[in-house]
Amino acid sequence: MFNALVVDKNEDGKTQAAVKQLRLDDLPHAEVTVAVDYSTVNYKDGLCIGPGGGLVRNYPHVPGIDFAGTVENSEDPRYAPGDKVVLTGWRVGEAHWGGYAQKARVKGDWLVPLPDGISTRQAMAVGTAGFTAMLAVMALEDHGLTPGQGPVLVTGAAGGVGSVATAILAHLGYEVAAVTGRPETEEYLRGLGASQIVPREQLNETTKRPLESESWAGCVDAVGGAMLARLLGQMKYGGSVAAVGLAGGAALPATVIPFLLRGVNLLGIDSVLQPFEKRQRAWQRVVTDLPLEKLDAMVQPATLQDLPQLGADILAGKVQGRVVVDVN
Ligand code: NDP
Repeated sequence: MFNALVVDKNEDGKTQAAVKQLRLDDLPHAEVTVAVDYSTVNYKDGLCIGPGGGLVRNYPHVPGIDFAGTVENSEDPRYAPGDKVVLTGWRVGEAHWGGYAQKARVKGDWLVPLPDGISTRQAMAVGTAGFTAMLAVMALEDHGLTPGQGPVLVTGAAGGVGSVATAILAHLGYEVAAVTGRPETEEYLRGLGASQIVPREQLNETTKRPLESESWAGCVDAVGGAMLARLLGQMKYGGSVAAVGLAGGAALPATVIPFLLRGVNLLGIDSVLQPFEKRQRAWQRVVTDLPLEKLDAMVQPATLQDLPQLGADILAGKVQGRVVVDVN
C-alpha cells in the first residue's frame, strides 16, 4: 500500500481531493515503476487538483505533472532499479496518473536520467516551471541573445517560471528586469539577481501606440495576454520574446508592427513534448546555470496533505517561487 492524493468527482460534477491509500495494482500499466521522492506544484497542477480545467480525462485521478525519484522496477532496458530519474510533461498528471503519490508507473520514453550534480529534491525545486524557464533561455540564446545587449524582461517574475528564469539569466550575466504585481517580493527578486523591478500595472495598461521606446533585449514571458501585446512594442530591434505562459490571459491583443518594423521574434515554448535529447540538454544546463543557493531561496516545502490548499493558491497567483512536495 502507498499514499497518493486522489481526486474524485461526485454526482454533481464537483471534484474533491484527499490523501488515500492505493495498491500497486491500482497503478496504470506502463514499463517503469518509480518510487517517487518529490513532486511540486505548477499552475496546471492547480487545475488538476481542483476543477480539472479540461485536462483530466478520467476519475479517480492522481495529479502531479512532474516528479523525481528512484526506479523500483523496469521492463525498459534503458532503466534499472536504483536509477535516479526525473519526469516532466507527456500529459502525466493530466491524462495519465502523476507524481502526487509514493509510487508512479510511466513509460520509459517519458523519463530522463537525473544528471550528476542535482538531487531529486533539487530537481523538483526546478520542476516543470524551471525546466521550461531553461528552455526559454535556450531559445533566446539560439536567436542571438547575449549578455551586454540590454536588460532582459521576465514577466510573472515571482512565480515559478519567472523566479527560475530570473536566477538563470542573472547567473549568465544578463541584466534582469523583473515584472511583478507583488511589490513585497522585491527583496526576493533582487536576491535572485534582478537589477530592476517593473510594477505589473506599468505593462498591463493598454496603449494605442504599436511601438514604444526600445527597452528590452529579450523577454521570458509567463503572463501572455495584454502584457505580452504591450511588451512586444517595447522590444529592441531584432529582440526575441519567449512565450511560455498565460497567467494573465490567452488572448493576444497585439499588432504585427513590432515584427515588421523591428524584426521582433515571438518564440513559442512548449515543455510537454520536447524530444529526449533536448530534455537531457536542458537538465544539464540547469545543473551548470542555476546556482543552487538561489534555488534554495525559492523553495517552500510541502506534503501531500497541503496540496488541495496549494492548488487553490497557485490558481490565485499567491504562490511565491517553487513548492517542493515531499510525498513520503
Ligand atoms: P505561477 O503561478 O507560479 O506564476 C505565475 C505568475 O504570473 C504569478 O506568480 C504572478 O507573478 C504572475 N501573474 C499571475 N496572474 C497574473 C495576471 N493576471 N496578470 C499579470 N501577471 C500575473 O505559475 P508558473 O510559473 O508555474 O507558470 C507560469 C505560466 O507558465 C502559467 O500560465 C503556466 O501554465 C505556464 N507554463 C507553461 C509551460 C509550457 O510548457 N509552455 C510549462 C510550465 C508553465 P507576480 O506575482 O510576480 O506578478
